[in-house]
Amino acid sequence: MSDSCLFCKISRDEVPSNKVYSDADTFAFRDINPQSPVHIIIIPKKHINALKLDDICQQDAALLGKIQIVAAKIASSFSEMKNGFRLVNNCGPDSGQTVYHIHYHLLGGRIFGWPPG
Ligand code: 5GP
Ligand code: ZN
Repeated sequence: MSDSCLFCKISRDEVPSNKVYSDADTFAFRDINPQSPVHIIIIPKKHINALKLDDICQQDAALLGKIQIVAAKIASSFSEMKNGFRLVNNCGPDSGQTVYHIHYHLLGGRIFGWPPG
């Protein structure tokens, strides 16, 4: 937990969000600036800076693996994602990461291009 972190505050309901899912160790909410018809941010409640070896440890393996399952669970509840979805983690400045609490973008409701921009 970090007192100054926006996503920690969102996960504690100290900053309002459009919540989609919550359990003991994960939280999901609508992105404020959606890039697709459905754009949900999934985070661990534990404050982890980014998906870099310096920031994660072996004990986080189950937690980070769980996020993949949470993403599939959320996607299965949206008709817009019945034909698929994209799950994205931006890590570090070159990727465009702006919030340094690890998070995964669950995007759906349109056809996505490859390679990504
Ligand atoms: P990043 O660029 O770090 O991968 O993603 C951060 C995401 O958080 C962006 O898509 C941005 O729109 C979203 N975001 C930033 N501030 C807020 C906020 O206060 N509320 C919500 N719901 N999303 C936010
Ligand atoms: Zn945080």
